[in-house]
Amino acid sequence: MTQRPGPTGGEHTRAVHTPPPPVFAQAPMGLPIYRTAAFAFDSAEEYEEVLAGRAPGFTYSRIDNPTAATFAGGVAWLEGAGAPGEVVGEAFASGMAAISAVMMGHLSAGDHVLCASEVYGGTWSLLSGVLSRFGVATTFADLSDPAGARAGLTDRTRLVWAETLANPSLSVADLSGLAGVAHAAGALLAVDSTFASPVICRPLEHGADLVVHSATKYLGGHSDVTGGVVVGRPDLLAPVRHMRVELGGSLAPDEAFLLHRGLATLPLRMARHSASAQALAEAMLAHPAVTAVHYPGLPGHRDHQRAMALFDSGRCGGVLSVDIAGDRAAGRAFCDRLRIGRNATSLAGTHTKVSHVASTTHRQLDDAALRAAGIGPATVRVSVGLEDVEDLIADCRQALDSLR
Ligand SMILES: *Cc1c(COP(=O)(O)O)cnc(C)c1O
Repeated sequence: MTQRPGPTGGEHTRAVHTPPPPVFAQAPMGLPIYRTAAFAFDSAEEYEEVLAGRAPGFTYSRIDNPTAATFAGGVAWLEGAGAPGEVVGEAFASGMAAISAVMMGHLSAGDHVLCASEVYGGTWSLLSGVLSRFGVATTFADLSDPAGARAGLTDRTRLVWAETLANPSLSVADLSGLAGVAHAAGALLAVDSTFASPVICRPLEHGADLVVHSATKYLGGHSDVTGGVVVGRPDLLAPVRHMRVELGGSLAPDEAFLLHRGLATLPLRMARHSASAQALAEAMLAHPAVTAVHYPGLPGHRDHQRAMALFDSGRCGGVLSVDIAGDRAAGRAFCDRLRIGRNATSLAGTHTKVSHVASTTHRQLDDAALRAAGIGPATVRVSVGLEDVEDLIADCRQALDSLR
């Protein structure tokens, strides 16, 4: 694109048409924030060609924005490192915008979804409370083994949905087993890999068709931005992209800048989150006020072997959950007595966060339903931050000691 000189005229015209930014053929080290809703063209013909997709370029930031596209491309690059074929990405304003675009893009009235029963609450309510109104039926089932998953299929199953690491049991999905079940039924396997990040596991390498992240969590990594991303093959991303454009949940350029910046330190952060979570899990397990610790890095976890086979360098991420002896009050007291860990929504990020599961993420469940889901009245989810692990262990110990 060439630059034309601005028009001259009165002070308002000159104020609106100050000189445009230079377009250098030189790469900036930092990612420019294209904080613009619209793009200009040199001619009406170029405008038409770009809009029609016959010429490269940007038109409108809901459709495409260079900063957002660069972030999505970065995640596709990381998720697709060992995956067969080309992998592309689409960036969204939140994880839920990404999840809803996958579902709206790939499902129609009459279709059926097979979804892991242990799934993010927003995904559960989207399927059971929203898509159900549009004629999409969902079966929530234990997908931990392929036989169980196969039993949940119907002849209308188009999508199988699982999470690499589920909350709060930290169970690990059998990705290749689920891919086999889905593909044999002519369905797609979509995986929410928010808890793992591409540093720990890349589901496309194990047969998944689409991978979704709440970028709000580890990709951003600092709890200061909301975003989402979907990656996969171009033909499978096309309907998802279409929904992003039609429903409008596109990522804003400022948020894209922060999320893209997060990618550079993702491996460093995930290594530290994982090592600290492992050490904290082992320390908590040894405390008499703790009845169980759920972390796949522990040999006693149901999915330990699967985690060691699927996850890079045996890393299991920064989230663990701990069953504290006693009732709901004991779980809350543990959270309140921490001096470093904070009662906070969300997970990932630099700061250690805790949530008492029965009164927060799973507050709709009574004690019996909690028990059925394998959750105790005093279970606490810990999202291990980047603080010194010795300090975190000491903090948890003093809070546990105070309960006895
Ligand atoms: C947070 C989260 C989401 C939703 O993401 P938002 O960015 O909050 O919309 C989806 N899946 C998982 C596993 C999450 O932790």
